[in-house]
Amino acid sequence: MEKVIVITGGSRGIGAATALLAASQGYRVCINYRSDDAAAGDVLQQVRALGVQAIAVRADVSREDGVFRLFSQVDAELGRVTALVNNAATNGPRARLDEMSEQRLLGLMTTNVVGPMLCAKHAVGRMSRRHGGQGGVIVNVSSIAARLGSADEYIDYAASKGAIDSFTIGLAKEVAGEGIRVNAVRPGMIFTDFHALCGEPGRVTRKEGAVPMGRGGQPDEIAQAIMWLVSDQASYTTGALLDVGGGL
Ligand code: NAP
Repeated sequence: MEKVIVITGGSRGIGAATALLAASQGYRVCINYRSDDAAAGDVLQQVRALGVQAIAVRADVSREDGVFRLFSQVDAELGRVTALVNNAATNGPRARLDEMSEQRLLGLMTTNVVGPMLCAKHAVGRMSRRHGGQGGVIVNVSSIAARLGSADEYIDYAASKGAIDSFTIGLAKEVAGEGIRVNAVRPGMIFTDFHALCGEPGRVTRKEGAVPMGRGGQPDEIAQAIMWLVSDQASYTTGALLDVGGGL
């Protein structure tokens, strides 16, 4: 059976590093992204240069019509999905709860919580032995923020990742008997453009002194953990929340 991996938010940062690592391991790769065609095209070219089949699909995974189109295109062009990495997420400008609008809260929860649940729903429909599938693996990208709470910065984001942790634990139990493993990786502070969303592109450099290992992490250090959980080496691991944060 061909190995087919769908990586949401695969055009930049941790998702792009995961796409490249998966390609180097022989996976057919679907790079999903929301709007940055140039970044997706660049990663697609690098992935294809590693000799695997790959596609880039522009789709907002916080909407089910986008998720439906994403998986339909994967079916048609790469084959049935065997691994899903729920990596796409967003954040808002640094703020206290009493400064957060309803629109911000709804938008963030839709992208960070509903989106991964919708993607998992459509992946399970294809992977589950209950639905005639041959099993598979789901890795949710959470955050150490789920444990720390991110007071005075973005507790909405931290809470969305707390929801991802609960979702990981519950779904893992729900589909464990159907050939699907579900785990989460919880990155600490990683050098990507994500921090610009909070209005502080240099956040990791400013705060890395607080990391017990004394430095921020690189996207590939998260990709390695994700792909270990995807691999058969993790064949007895499900419902796990793997912290990769330099000791945070
Ligand atoms: P990033 O560099 O900002 O990349 C985000 C990716 O997600 C981009 O490819 C973006 O596509 C895509 N995306 C965003 N919203 C989307 C949507 N609705 N539909 C489809 N794609 C969407 O982020 P990152 O730092 O690599 O973060 C990846 C994951 O790690 C996230 O879940 C984040 O919460 C988590 N994380 C990051 C850190 C960190 O320090 N960086 C720490 C802990 C956890 P476009 O560019 O086209 O919009």
